[in-house]
Amino acid sequence: MSGECDKCGEHPLECKCKYIVEELEELLHIQMMNGNWNYDPYMHGMTNGMILFLSLMKGEVPKFIDAPEKWVSENREEFFGRQVEIKDEP
Ligand SMILES: [Zn+2]
Repeated sequence: MSGECDKCGEHPLECKCKYIVEELEELLHIQMMNGNWNYDPYMHGMTNGMILFLSLMKGEVPKFIDAPEKWVSENREEFFGRQVEIKDEP
C-alpha cells in the first residue's frame, strides 16, 4: 500500500471503492488468528491499531481486544505442542 488506494488513487480515508477496506479486513482476519494477535505485546498492539484504523475507515466505533492472560511467545511449547522428547537414559 503506497498511502493511497491502488484502485481509485484516493487517500485511504477518502476511498469510496472499499478496496482498501477489503484489503485491511483480510489482513485483520489473518492478524486475529490464534497465535498471531496474542503472540506478544507488539502483535497485540498492532492488532488493536488495525482495528482502530479499519473502524475509522468504516465510520464504526472500534472494538478493541484485551490482552490475553498468557502471551504465546512465553508459552511456545504449550501452544505449539511439546517437542519430541530426547531421552539421555537408555
Ligand atoms: Zn479506492
